[in-house]
Amino acid sequence: MILAALGAVGALVLMAGPAPARPASSTLHPWSRIVTMQTDLLALGASYPRAITGLGLDQRGRVVVRLRSGDRVVYDDGRPKFFWQKLDRPDLQDALAIVYPLGPIRRPPGPGRDPGRFRVAALFRAVYGGSPRAVRANLVWVDFAGQRVRFNARAGAARALARVGRELAELLRRRPDLRKYVFPLGGTYVRRRIAGTRRLSPHAWGMAIDLNARHGAYWRWTGARPGRGPDPRPRYPGEIVRIFERHGFIWGGKWRHFDLAHFEYRPELLLKARFLTGR
Ligand SMILES: [Zn+2]
Repeated sequence: MILAALGAVGALVLMAGPAPARPASSTLHPWSRIVTMQTDLLALGASYPRAITGLGLDQRGRVVVRLRSGDRVVYDDGRPKFFWQKLDRPDLQDALAIVYPLGPIRRPPGPGRDPGRFRVAALFRAVYGGSPRAVRANLVWVDFAGQRVRFNARAGAARALARVGRELAELLRRRPDLRKYVFPLGGTYVRRRIAGTRRLSPHAWGMAIDLNARHGAYWRWTGARPGRGPDPRPRYPGEIVRIFERHGFIWGGKWRHFDLAHFEYRPELLLKARFLTGR
């Protein structure tokens, strides 16, 4: 359904002609914008097929994604935003704009390069539960490399974590020296806000796991401003990161505002990165 709707939306946007006068949110050529939008919507539709019930246009001709929760979210609200505004109120286009880098990163990400930190809360409420109670009803126990943890069963998140756990257990059998990076686990589901903000943490939806934070620096606690001081990322074992990424998790180590122990189930970002790079 999403696939058919995508073609239709592309055609509708073209027929609608230039968007109504409003500040440009991107300097991309209209064709590139449409291709980017289709890639984004396809990645979202394939990742969250149950939560996304359809696509349409609002009265201003903007593409909206209809959610099972009854919410509608605008793909591109047309507002230019500063970094902190994208953290606070991103649209879907902002959320997917920075392509998640597959494979090792050679140097610290530049300003604004935090792929995955712009989260559209309405989408995750529709996917994982719109209230603490609804989220808890979707949590299941997962065997994660020999430990039981709670994770959200929606969108295949818990299944993906179980697969990560199996591969990780296999890796740790061969490489016991890596065990300290994983255990003791920092945790999965916890109802909390992101430190220093009023935004809900992805842990509150049960879609993220922290490995051992002792060996995973968090930018806020290191005392170093992002982009300054020694970079802790190169010391983090890439084998662990690759296993998570293979199953749809992004790594907080690829953010300029790094959080090395943090892995978050965001299949749409991995899908988009794979579409674009053919990897
Ligand atoms: Zn975390």
